[in-house]
Amino acid sequence: MIVCYNILYKVLNIPNWEDKLHMSTRIYDCLKAIGDKIIENKDFLTDLDREIGDADHGVNMARGFQSVIEKVSQDDPDIGACLKKTGMTLLSTVGGASGPLYGTAYMEAGKVLMGKDSLSAEDLKLALEAAIAGIQKRGKAEKGEKTMLDSLIPAYDVYSEKIASGASIVDALDAACVAANEGIEYTKTIAATKGRASYLGDRSIGHQDPGATSLTYTLETIRDFIKG
Ligand code: ADP
Ligand code: MG
Repeated sequence: MIVCYNILYKVLNIPNWEDKLHMSTRIYDCLKAIGDKIIENKDFLTDLDREIGDADHGVNMARGFQSVIEKVSQDDPDIGACLKKTGMTLLSTVGGASGPLYGTAYMEAGKVLMGKDSLSAEDLKLALEAAIAGIQKRGKAEKGEKTMLDSLIPAYDVYSEKIASGASIVDALDAACVAANEGIEYTKTIAATKGRASYLGDRSIGHQDPGATSLTYTLETIRDFIKG
C-alpha cells in the first residue's frame, strides 16, 4: 500500500507520508548521525579553527555530541524533548562560542517541536526559524559576519521558498544544502566581525568559517537521514 502511494506521489507530486516523517524511534538515530558526522570531521573542523581561531571547534563539538549520544534517550518519541536535551547537553559540554550558540539553536528548535513524534516540512521550517532566532538573540550576528549564520540563513531562505512552491521536503533540503555550501564559500571572501576570528580582521579573509562548516554538515546529515 505504501509502495503504491509512494509511486502515486512520485508521479503526481501529491503530499505523501514522506512529507510527514514519522520519526518516533528515529530522532535519536538522526542526532547520532549528526554526532557521527561531526566526530568524523573533528580534525578538519579543528584545523579550520586553527587558522582563524583557537583550534578547538572540532574538539569541542565532538565532545558535545559524544555526550548527546550518551544522554539522549534512544526510545523517547518526542522530537522536541530530544532536541531540548541535545541543546542542554551542548550548552554544558561544548564551551566556547559555539556551545551556547548551538545549545540555544537546538533548545529553541525543541520548543517548537515539543510533543511531536513526526515532522512535516512546515515543522522543519519553523524549527530552523527558531534556531536562527535563538542564535541571533545570543550572538547578535547578522548574515555577512563570517559565522554559522552565513550557511544557516541562506539555507533556511531557500528551504522556505521551495516548500512554499510545493517542493518535497527532500528537494527543499537538497536546495538548502547547496545554499549552505555556497555560504561556506562566501565566508572565505569576507572578514569576520564576530567571534574570535574577528580579532584577525582582514587577515581572516581567505579562510572558511568552522561554524558555517559544522552547520552545513548538520543540514546535510538531516537531509541524508530524511532521504533514508
Ligand atoms: P570559540 O570561537 O569560542 O573558540 P568555537 O571555535 O567552538 O568557539 O566556534 C567558532 C564558531 O562560532 C565560528 O566559526 C562561528 O561560526 C561561530 N560564531 C562565533 N561567534 C558567533 C556569533 N556571534 N554568532 C554566530 N556564530 C558565531
Ligand atoms: Mg575556537
